[in-house]
Amino acid sequence: MARSPRIGVLALQGAFREHARALRRAGADVVEVRRPEQLDGLDGLVIPGGESTTIAKLAAGYGLDEAIRAFERPVFGTCAGMILVDRAHLGLADLEVDRNAYGRQVASFEADLELGDGEAPFRGVFIRAPRVRDVGAGVEVLAELGGEPVLLRDGRVLVAAFHPELTDDLRVHERFLELVTEATSVRA
Ligand code: GLN
Repeated sequence: MARSPRIGVLALQGAFREHARALRRAGADVVEVRRPEQLDGLDGLVIPGGESTTIAKLAAGYGLDEAIRAFERPVFGTCAGMILVDRAHLGLADLEVDRNAYGRQVASFEADLELGDGEAPFRGVFIRAPRVRDVGAGVEVLAELGGEPVLLRDGRVLVAAFHPELTDDLRVHERFLELVTEATSVRA
């Protein structure tokens, strides 16, 4: 793509500034999205981590839930964002997700993840992370932790149970921008 991809970050609550920073470092133009019409003309959308119930409530209040359901470009949901795209919420990814499923003692932790790119492991920051309980047949697992999927792709939708915006490693955001580039060249 000749121009930089235009990526929206849902900016209602949670770690949206950190995503915006990571996306800019990875070469994207970033738009903070707080109203439905701000989705127009975007090449992709990130739904950040935070508190999924709060984000869902605010999104519904602004009519952003319907607008995101109708948005046809790639979407990247991290942590609470992964919950919001699942079957029980926006239904953009064929996943069933359990909130806060790691329990109190191990609620937040860091772990090395193999991305399968032949490079050093990715440091995954997990904060009261959701756990994937079931995936549809079309879902591709891109990274696992202890045999459980933590980075997955369902077509144009990428989801991470961890917070790639809280480390300086841009590989997961770059993976999302590759999805965006693929989708944009198909459209062109
Ligand atoms: N546990 C949070 C929720 O259910 C998600 C945590 C996070 O995004 N870091 O919304």
